[in-house]
Amino acid sequence: MSRPRPTKPRGSTASAPPKPDPRTLDNPCLPCKGGCCQHVAIPIDTPTTPGDFDDIRWYLLHDNVRVFVEDGDWYCEFKTRCSALQTDWLCAIYEKRPKICRDYDAESCEYYGENDADDAEPSFETVEEIEAYAREFLAEKRRKAARRRRHKHAQHARRKGGA
Ligand code: SF4
Ligand code: SF4
Repeated sequence: MSRPRPTKPRGSTASAPPKPDPRTLDNPCLPCKGGCCQHVAIPIDTPTTPGDFDDIRWYLLHDNVRVFVEDGDWYCEFKTRCSALQTDWLCAIYEKRPKICRDYDAESCEYYGENDADDAEPSFETVEEIEAYAREFLAEKRRKAARRRRHKHAQHARRKGGA
């Protein structure tokens, strides 16, 4: 299975004031103050075991770390400013900026784009949040495993009864 690429995470625009039309601005990134240049997000494996969740607990014990799910893929986000972001919110290496920055379209970015973030997709800022999620996830996993075992036993018993 191929791993998802790093992403520039979406931000919530739920209570944001109205924004200008980026096509009317010389530099559409000025009003945003370099939002997407102040964090990186790295794909992580979807957690399924207590050990996986313990790893995420470790990530979240660190300052300025968030773990979130986007389109079903899990990411660890580090809130850290790019060293190329200038105080005027322009990129100091614009002509040589990395491909992920080139590919990121200001008209559909986390600032101007539709806020299509799915509220049902989890986002974790604290250890307590991931622990609560893990408890529920692992309990459901155990329930499903128990149901599968019962189903298998019932099938086995039926086969023996019919033999
Ligand atoms: S691309 Fe969008 S999110 Fe990134 S700095 Fe420009 S306006 Fe902000
Ligand atoms: S290289 Fe430039 S465009 Fe890319 S994150 Fe840094 S400041 Fe932003």
